[in-house]
Amino acid sequence: MTSSPRRILIVYPRFRRASFWNFKASCEAVGARYPAPPLGLITMAGMLPRSWDIRLLDRNCETLTDADIDAADLVMTGGMLPQQPDILDIIDWCHARGKLVAVGGPDVTTTPEIYKAADFQIRGEAEAVMQQFIDAWTGGATQGVFEIEKFTTDVTTSPIPRFDLLNFHNYLFVNVQYSRGCPFNCEFCDIIELYGRKPRTKTNAQMLAELDRLYELGYRGHVDFVDDNLIGNKKAVKQFLPSLIEWQKKHGFPFEFSTEASINLSDDPQLLGMMRDANFFAVFVGIESPDTETLVAMQKKQNTRRSIEASIHKIYDAGILVVAGFILGFDEEKDGVAEPMVACIEEAAIPACMIGLLYALTNTQLTRRLQREGRLHAGYDLVGEKIDGDQCTAGLNFTTKRPRREILEDYVAVLQRIYHPDAYFGRLQRLSHALRRHGVPQSREAAMKDLKLLGRFVWRMTLRHPRLLRPFLRIFIDCARHNPAALKPILMMMGFYLHLGPFAQHVVGQLKQQIAQIDRGEWAAPPLAPVGSAAPAARELAAAANA
Ligand code: SF4
Repeated sequence: MTSSPRRILIVYPRFRRASFWNFKASCEAVGARYPAPPLGLITMAGMLPRSWDIRLLDRNCETLTDADIDAADLVMTGGMLPQQPDILDIIDWCHARGKLVAVGGPDVTTTPEIYKAADFQIRGEAEAVMQQFIDAWTGGATQGVFEIEKFTTDVTTSPIPRFDLLNFHNYLFVNVQYSRGCPFNCEFCDIIELYGRKPRTKTNAQMLAELDRLYELGYRGHVDFVDDNLIGNKKAVKQFLPSLIEWQKKHGFPFEFSTEASINLSDDPQLLGMMRDANFFAVFVGIESPDTETLVAMQKKQNTRRSIEASIHKIYDAGILVVAGFILGFDEEKDGVAEPMVACIEEAAIPACMIGLLYALTNTQLTRRLQREGRLHAGYDLVGEKIDGDQCTAGLNFTTKRPRREILEDYVAVLQRIYHPDAYFGRLQRLSHALRRHGVPQSREAAMKDLKLLGRFVWRMTLRHPRLLRPFLRIFIDCARHNPAALKPILMMMGFYLHLGPFAQHVVGQLKQQIAQIDRGEWAAPPLAPVGSAAPAARELAAAANA
């Protein structure tokens, strides 16, 4: 069906304010307003007719007004669990202005019952159902559910995201996606429930067309591959990387890349070499725990039978720095886990670590097991009214095996030690020596952009964070003398500390309050969810608890 032009307002909902991932101070230091743009929504925008008038508004860095909503024929929104409260607010707001709302994304896919108020729900990966939705709405429908069977979407049909809708200046970096899904089977992971264990990849031409588009639009600098695990399909990525290397050479290396990958990346020197040659400079690796028994029990066997520290250093040898994820609260966790966790982080010289409390996400193997075992909390969730945080402060939504207080104490100990300025900058200095970056030729525009950012960063540091200026200059001069090729990623890690240092203090403060509550006998475990096999929705659990 052909459709007359329509005015669509796409609204990216706010994340919770207190989140590890918002990097607020780091953004401010370089003049950005939020780390990354909404790739899912601009990909969905690419599926809408080109003749339509489409506007994107990101609530994390822009203000939504009544007038914005009034000017649209339809509002489209959606996102992840931490955005749930804002998505629900946006739906109510649009209805109060008499507008229809369509909701999509991972959270409505996992817990559609929470979004009953939305007029349209687009569940699952949108590519295969978007035309049905367009036909229904332009044909006069005012409600409907459009759902695609899980894991069946052919990502080679995915359009080039509408990068033209973005204001690049708002963001620290932009993002693209090559594959969806991961072959591993970690018990706590919701990625494999949403996207499956057989990674589906785009074609080389499709991926390069996305980079062409970014290049044409004048973007230069950091591009993040948001893949759940870029190396999930190693054969495919090894066929793609040579094309990416050629593209970079042809365009004078306008982009540097980051991504997420499993630690078995370190076992494959050929793959590491290709990523280095394509100018990957950072990778997020989920380490989770330094303890083998804990890793085996969480089904993260890819992290076992290896020295974590040696594996990380192999990645450094390819010039790629590692940002790592760790989690506390697993059943098999040993008393005093803080000590080996800190030792692992120090030995591997990983400056930025995302340390969180285990949280049983709806619709994961972990949640199903905890519910079967009668250990899942009802009414305690990441979107609860009183919670403004993420899994850093609002985890452990189940009856833990170790005493809760001990887990929280270990968590406090890890944060206090690894985010003390001396410890962070010590690891950063060791990293600056370990990182074997090759001198990558840089385009003039990219070099100018970097120089401007550096100037702004130093100015901001001098004005706002004078106590960090001394370690900053020490590492800067040392790195410039001994390993100048590593200067840029090292500077970036310094910028991260502007967020990570204060955020760790915030989390420690919250955790100490929780510990004090336990000590005063004021903390009572929430009621347990009914024992059963089906995964409950967070809001249903909350309702059960409040009943
Ligand atoms: S490696 Fe990462 S994406 Fe893959 S299953 Fe484990 S947690 Fe999920």
